[in-house]
Amino acid sequence: MSCQNNNIKSKNDPYINLRRDMVKNQIQARGITDKKVLDAMLKVPRHLFVPEAVRDEAYEDYPLSIGEGQTISQPYIVGIMTELASIKGDEKVLEIGTGSGYQAAVLSWLCREVYTIEIVENLAKTAEKRLKDLEYNNVHVRYGDGYLGWTEAQPFDVIIITCAPPYLPDSLVRQLKKGGKIIAPMGEEYATQTLTVFEKKDGNLIKTEHEPVRFVPMKGKIEQNLSK
Ligand code: SAH
Repeated sequence: MSCQNNNIKSKNDPYINLRRDMVKNQIQARGITDKKVLDAMLKVPRHLFVPEAVRDEAYEDYPLSIGEGQTISQPYIVGIMTELASIKGDEKVLEIGTGSGYQAAVLSWLCREVYTIEIVENLAKTAEKRLKDLEYNNVHVRYGDGYLGWTEAQPFDVIIITCAPPYLPDSLVRQLKKGGKIIAPMGEEYATQTLTVFEKKDGNLIKTEHEPVRFVPMKGKIEQNLSK
């Protein structure tokens, strides 16, 4: 194990207090009660998922730029999306929009396997290396368009989309298990979107809308099919 990892896992982590405050004041205080979600967010060293220049802001109550015009979501948004997934422990989860890899790292504490796809090559490579260095060994990163899902690894119990699609791609619905859930910020480019949960029940998708959110738009194939 590298020195860096020893540091992260030891009690000497200089960010531990900031992380505790983040979980208490931003996540718990806003109504996230699932202990496993809170514990996972206490464990993941969020400061190692942001560029060095903004490391001291890693535990603040807002999203941060991670380069390539993309952002790491506000901690609370990661908390609520993870809680809405209602993961029990044995699930296979697909994430669309790896970004920094932070959401994937949080999920990795909660389920069996995480598959995550990122459309910007540079971000995919950086996140893959970061997750490997930090020994998140049940996270699999792929560079590509999440629109088509991850055929070889399907079906998934949960699909979390962390970029905003104007509609739900059929391929993702097909790769979702019966009884599975999709959590997504549904909406148009640069407008307010709605955090939405779709549950696959008896051949139907049951939709529940939650709070307004703001994510970067989903890019790639979905843009060619906007009229759908
Ligand atoms: N979950 C990330 C934050 C996501 S930001 C984290 O924890 O840091 C949204 C990401 O979605 C961006 O990195 C963007 O490049 C990516 N993205 C946009 N469209 C995509 C697509 N079609 N397939 C995969 N990733 C996509």
